[in-house]
Amino acid sequence: MPRKSPRARRKNESPRMPGTGRPRATPGRSRASATRTARRKGGTHAAHGARPAARRLQRPERSLQVRRPKRARPRSRFAPPDPARVAAILGILDRAYPEPTTALDFGTPLQLLIATILSAQCTDERVNRTTPALFARYADAAAFAAASQAEIEELVRPTGFFRNKARAIRECCADIAGKYGGEVPASLEALTALRGVGRKTANVVLGNAFGIPGMVVDTHVQRLSRRLGLTNETDPVKIEFALMPIVPRERWTAFSHWLILHGRRVCVARKPRCSICPLAPHCPRVGVTASQ
Ligand code: SF4
Repeated sequence: MPRKSPRARRKNESPRMPGTGRPRATPGRSRASATRTARRKGGTHAAHGARPAARRLQRPERSLQVRRPKRARPRSRFAPPDPARVAAILGILDRAYPEPTTALDFGTPLQLLIATILSAQCTDERVNRTTPALFARYADAAAFAAASQAEIEELVRPTGFFRNKARAIRECCADIAGKYGGEVPASLEALTALRGVGRKTANVVLGNAFGIPGMVVDTHVQRLSRRLGLTNETDPVKIEFALMPIVPRERWTAFSHWLILHGRRVCVARKPRCSICPLAPHCPRVGVTASQ
């Protein structure tokens, strides 16, 4: 008897009803698993991974699906400092630094303005060694405005960034000579409108030359106000506006000096001296990871 080919043998087998055939395994699944799924769903189509038509119709087109807006990650909320704690901090600083004042040497508001411009990224001591020759050579704003850029650059070179500083001095003096008759204006708006003068410089001049309260925010005030939990802002202007309502206005200038002095002597940038700090009982030491 001639041997039949496998194809001829399959043709002679009895036809199977749809859905009763042995399910094939889908890639990644064992045949036994596919069979179990087919039994559970009642047909071989399910075993092949096809979804029932009704379920497919229920799902809207991707383009018609309504996208839920992403929920904003909740920001850690900053609790305003307790007024009693702020009062305690002010009292301790007042006793620790009874005569808060600027370390810059000056005789007139113009000299303080120029010394403050020079103090950026420079120590007060170095500025004080530089300014006597400068002030001896140029008596007023008109003289500074008339001086050449190279002349002033040479005189202020020891303070660093001398080109920018020389330009700021000449430009703000030209504004003072041209718009205010050579007199430094005594308002924050007028001072900050001068070329080369920012809020920090303006507040230094207001507080120390005119006795008008000004909240000076330098690098020490930025660092200490955060460590003391008085604000969680990082931008100097935002820090200034955060500190103004919690410190009495008449103490703005003194408060700036207190934080600057305390930042230089105790609450230094790296490893603050918390073990000897009189503010320790009232300080949450925000962001301090190592201290001495
Ligand atoms: S306790 Fe420490 S972190 Fe707080 S102010 Fe004093 S030195 Fe700075």
